[in-house]
Amino acid sequence: MGSNGNATHVKVLVLGSGPAGLSAALYAARAELAPIVLTGIQLGGQAALTYTIENYPGFPEGVGGAQLGELFQKQAEHFGAKVEFDTASAVDLSTRPFKVTTDSGEYKADSLIISTGADPNKLKIPGEQELIGRGVSYCATCDGWFFKDKKVVIVGGGDSALEEGLFITRYASSVTVIHRRQEFRASPILQHRAKEHPKMNFILNSIVTEVIGNEKVEALRLKNIKTGDETVFETDGLFIFIGHTPNTEMFKSQLKMNDLGYITVNDKMETSVEGVYAAGEVADPHFRQVITSAGMGAAAAIQATRFLEAESG
Ligand code: NAP
Repeated sequence: MGSNGNATHVKVLVLGSGPAGLSAALYAARAELAPIVLTGIQLGGQAALTYTIENYPGFPEGVGGAQLGELFQKQAEHFGAKVEFDTASAVDLSTRPFKVTTDSGEYKADSLIISTGADPNKLKIPGEQELIGRGVSYCATCDGWFFKDKKVVIVGGGDSALEEGLFITRYASSVTVIHRRQEFRASPILQHRAKEHPKMNFILNSIVTEVIGNEKVEALRLKNIKTGDETVFETDGLFIFIGHTPNTEMFKSQLKMNDLGYITVNDKMETSVEGVYAAGEVADPHFRQVITSAGMGAAAAIQATRFLEAESG
């Protein structure tokens, strides 16, 4: 591959290995297009970091996120997809075949399916960056275990905050959810479960303005946005679930995007460049579910197949 200067030429290159990418690979493989999937940093995408997925059909008891990712991968590989542990760092979409530079080489692709997902947002407050991995985390399944019998704070009021907060109750002695409003965005079922849980507490209408600690998180400075009152709240851990930002930096000025940086696609998953498709959270600010991402991935691959077929006559 690229190290000797020779780019690998593929008909379909898939960027990202979450539900969208692996579903696209499955469909492209079954169309005998021998797709290559570049995994990106997180094999299985964000879904693989979810402890249990309860709303993907076919698993009435729920399924582990990592396990579901492995099943997706196995199924795609069974039909001939190749999964490479590699990450794209730059793309050139100005001419076909499209050029994709990765950490270990270069690819040329007749069609490209972008499913690079999204990354968790940061609060951007003093102490946050410095104490990542020392009490500040964005992933409950990755780090929850470190907080056995400890006090944990969750920031956010969406599904992720309450779902991950409930997960951490397995380990932590208490989980306090700090939310900037009175009402939660999370679904009623999760709100109900969280409010009923004996280990969960709530501080509402409040924001975290500073993470306090030297070697590790010791406390948080809070501000009640209704009264303006400031308090210091002792905690061992801070988990932040305040939404995501799509991984679209390398496509900027090459593909049409919305104001928030999500890639614009039509109902056929086509982007503003012919032969380039986007699927999953990188192009979806609305649903962000495993099932919707998988569906978008399948649609993108079907469309890529039609495009390549039409071209070859
Ligand atoms: P989200 O729904 O966008 O919620 C983000 C939360 O963070 C909101 O409550 C928001 O407050 C708060 N927030 C945003 N910026 C903040 C800041 N700077 N400081 C303090 N708080 C801030 O994100 P999400 O929970 O990650 O969910 C994303 C999508 O995935 C949603 O569509 C959700 O339904 C889906 N999801 C589904 C499941 C499931 O079905 N089980 C699980 C996880 C996620 P405001 O409410 O005031 O805006």
